Amino acid sequence: MTFRCKNMDGCPMYKYLTSSIRILQLYPLVEEYCQNPEKYKECARYKLMMEGEVSPDNLLPNGTRLKN
Ligand code: SF4
Repeated sequence: MTFRCKNMDGCPMYKYLTSSIRILQLYPLVEEYCQNPEKYKECARYKLMMEGEVSPDNLLPNGTRLKN
């Protein structure tokens, strides 16, 4: 079974990454972070959540910002 980040169910970016019309461009981030048991803790959003902070809406797992 595919690994799931512990924050996946409450993560709006995960929903976006898996439903955007840019899914072909963005899905590699899901595989690299959200489904990766070694790397999900390095996700910029996950780290902020662990510090009790709220992530900016457009913050991507790799720390860059989603541009329109
Ligand atoms: S790895 Fe990051 S973007 Fe993916 S579900 Fe977890 S907190 Fe959200």
